[in-house]
Amino acid sequence: MKIETREYQASDVDYAMGHGVNDRVIHCAPTGSGKTIIQCLIAKREMDRGNSTAILTPRNEIFTQTHGAAASICGANNVSTMRAKRQGEYWNPMNPVHVISWPTLIARVRKDKDFWFPRVDRVLVDECHLSMAPKILEILNHYELKARVDGYTATPARQTGRGLGYYFTEIKNVVSVRQLIKEGYLAPVEYYGADAPDLTGIKIRKGDYEVGKLSKACVELVGDAIDNWLRLASDRHTITFAVDIRHCEALADRFNRVGIKAEALHTGLSQGDRDRVVAAFKAQKIQVLVNVGIASYGFDAPSVRCVQVCRPTKSIVLHLQMIGRGMRPKPDGGECMVLDHAGNVPRLGMADDLFRWRLDDGKKACDNWSRHPKSGEAEESKQYECQECRHIFSRQRICPKCGWQVPFSKRDIEAKDADLVPIGRNTAKPLPPDWPSYEVFYAMLRHYAQEKGRKPMWAVFTFEKKAKCRPPHEWNNHALVPPSPRVLNYIRSREIAFYKAKQRA
Ligand SMILES: [Zn+2]
Repeated sequence: MKIETREYQASDVDYAMGHGVNDRVIHCAPTGSGKTIIQCLIAKREMDRGNSTAILTPRNEIFTQTHGAAASICGANNVSTMRAKRQGEYWNPMNPVHVISWPTLIARVRKDKDFWFPRVDRVLVDECHLSMAPKILEILNHYELKARVDGYTATPARQTGRGLGYYFTEIKNVVSVRQLIKEGYLAPVEYYGADAPDLTGIKIRKGDYEVGKLSKACVELVGDAIDNWLRLASDRHTITFAVDIRHCEALADRFNRVGIKAEALHTGLSQGDRDRVVAAFKAQKIQVLVNVGIASYGFDAPSVRCVQVCRPTKSIVLHLQMIGRGMRPKPDGGECMVLDHAGNVPRLGMADDLFRWRLDDGKKACDNWSRHPKSGEAEESKQYECQECRHIFSRQRICPKCGWQVPFSKRDIEAKDADLVPIGRNTAKPLPPDWPSYEVFYAMLRHYAQEKGRKPMWAVFTFEKKAKCRPPHEWNNHALVPPSPRVLNYIRSREIAFYKAKQRA
């Protein structure tokens, strides 16, 4: 296996190699950023220095993947492994690289306090946000390891929303979701809204809605979820997230009744049945996999092109994990559709918003910086839901799917009127009824100018020709809007007129 190192991966490896012995760094790396590769590259660098490394992984799927990558990067003979059933085969404490299953290590140490563990120089904790982390740290203390510690996760917070500052000292951002999408390492996402259940009166426990009441509210909307999926996503391989087993079974049952091959996946099934369902889904023998909790991490099927979220949550960790299941890049570069039946996108944001994570143990470890009024992004990232097709979009005021235009709210209009007054007192010329407002018109001109490489003043002059006055300066801070066909025709007619005049001259 040939492994190509991406630029941000290489620079994160350098960072890890350079930080102090007492620093415990969380590397915030989205799903799809290749954090397993980064960890194995660090182990290789340590090995080249004559040091040893332990990579701690939480689950079987991740374990196998990590072991494969470590063997190909560090050489199979250098890697030893520890997990429950195959212990004797690979575990060799003298090797420079160890891939270790956490639960197994914890069980070993509990059973035998004197269980011998090598004095590794580096400990890498994968999925370091999981609740098992404190136990791992207890073990590290037990062995009094003086190792450099690096945690890796996409979401450096506990499920309750609290930070990980009880152990770690620093968060390092490896790469953003936005950049990964731009570089083609993640699929872009299209969001659609739907009726969300009424959540008034549902209690919040440990930072999220209480499941019992939530289930009841969501079961009532099962029919609506199926109808919307049929309308928008019936040709897509789909993962559906449910609240609990009852809700999960109800959704799968309803899918099957309309002739869609769906299966429920939850902890009520035996391990054998779960494996069978997952295998059938990955082989695309099942179109819709309705699950509770299981697919929220470590579950990877690149064929998934729709994530249907029927599980309302207040947890940013869970929200991002659910959407992330559909973001593996598609062979044709296509997008993943998110059907939000839970009101989660309006509540918490889009996957490529800029999230800011904090270490402290306070109530909220995460802020959506894209929505922060001071970020300068808030206006651009403002979300709208199309009243025609329910597509959720941002960074523009016209639905890119059907052309519906966001009406100006009363506040917008007041602001607009106020803006228009100072323009040399000569109020702008009245507009024809099929024309966007002046504000939108100017945003369209700026979009066109940027796209075609025109100077910014081109938009001002073109605006002035139509409106007979200059646009207010603040309008330059507004989001760009792709020109509507009407405006595009206008621009073209102006250009033709311009070239004809030039030719005559
Ligand atoms: Zn629309």
